[in-house]
Amino acid sequence: MRSVQGGSDRGFKLLLTSLDENVIPTEDEVRKAVIELKKGNPASGVAKVHSFLLDANPSWTVSEKRVRKILQSEGLVRSDAGTPNSTINTIHPSFRLNQSLDVNKWTSRVEVKYFDAIKGKGLVAKENIVKGDVLWKEDPFILAPEWEIYDLQHASEACSLCSSIIRDHSPLHISCEASTTATPCTARYCNRLCRLQAEKVHPLLCSARNPASVPLLAFTRDAQWMALHALAQCTSRLLLASQQDAATFDLDWDVVQGLAELGMEERAQCLREQGLEPDRQNWRRAFELYLQAFKEPRTPGEQKKLARVLKKPIPEELQKFTFEYQAFLRGLGRMSLNLEAHGGLYRLHSHLNHGCTPNVSVRHLDQRTALSRITVIAKEDFEIGQELLITYTNPQSSLRDRRRRLSEWGFGPCRCERCVTEEKVWKESDSNTQEADDLADQLKAGLGVL
Ligand SMILES: [Zn+2]
Ligand SMILES: [Zn+2]
Ligand SMILES: [Zn+2]
Repeated sequence: MRSVQGGSDRGFKLLLTSLDENVIPTEDEVRKAVIELKKGNPASGVAKVHSFLLDANPSWTVSEKRVRKILQSEGLVRSDAGTPNSTINTIHPSFRLNQSLDVNKWTSRVEVKYFDAIKGKGLVAKENIVKGDVLWKEDPFILAPEWEIYDLQHASEACSLCSSIIRDHSPLHISCEASTTATPCTARYCNRLCRLQAEKVHPLLCSARNPASVPLLAFTRDAQWMALHALAQCTSRLLLASQQDAATFDLDWDVVQGLAELGMEERAQCLREQGLEPDRQNWRRAFELYLQAFKEPRTPGEQKKLARVLKKPIPEELQKFTFEYQAFLRGLGRMSLNLEAHGGLYRLHSHLNHGCTPNVSVRHLDQRTALSRITVIAKEDFEIGQELLITYTNPQSSLRDRRRRLSEWGFGPCRCERCVTEEKVWKESDSNTQEADDLADQLKAGLGVL
């Protein structure tokens, strides 16, 4: 990096000299040069590309911050997460297709389409669709509801499976049958069907059947860590499925394997660009409690209870996927990336990509009978092949803010019609601001402020 050494007055003088001789290149010139340099030196970080740029263009005055901004907006930020010689150019979520997903179970009007390695998969219209049409309804694979609802579930006032409110006392409501006075469980269900369905997830998170899970759930509630709660639900579901026949396990396994994924370390890398540091101590603590809940309870009594639920050995691939620390971190990232706004993980819904002008809306319409069920509705007319889009950001926010939110998840700049138009306007008005910013940076650097 080319910086001015020594006291501030010396630096200031040097800077004045350099400003006399130097030129501030246009945004397009810098962008073109930066992209070329990055292509030729894929392993180089921001500082290196910056110094190459100044070596190649000695008359240019360009700050490192400006280079960083360009690399970020092009999705070319270097990852340090791997080995020292890693040459990853772009951090982005990874995608796999769930081959066993039968979309027809929910709808015949949309299909899964694989776009490419960066964009991954998405959902497109299989026939013409009219604005206002209900496209499908879907119950969650697992649910980690908002904390308000979570608290109601714990107070036996919301169904432990579908989260519908059950404050009134109907004879249909049923409590968890494992609950005893000595080992109470507060889970309560709308009806028999919900109780039956809950057996796919509840046993390992039941305070009566697996008391070792209580500290983990208390921790997720305390930290209000929805992704951790979702991961606990998901792990419980997979471990329980492994106790069933192979076909049952494979179906659930494929759902989880098919989810887009961005590890916590990769996410940390994206957030670091915004000056946020990961709280690794908290990750470790969460992992300890998670292992205690599902693998190594602390007391012999708790161990015995867990062994009563998990009688068969856990398949090795599932063990690796569940009980290794790095896998745990990837699991957390996978949950955060795929959860619906109200905390459910949905098999088909999780395929929906982002657009800044969403064309479908996701609603919870069956509030009294199945609160966690979603209804996906067309917000406009669709032609065959047109992609269905929801928004991962606040559609009201500015281009910059939307990009920042997306970059937290490793998504490159959105190329939807709205973004392309807004970017044009922004670039035109911004080249002036950019120059002013740049000049201010150079002055500060000269004064030793940076
Ligand atoms: Zn229910
Ligand atoms: Zn229970
Ligand atoms: Zn966009």
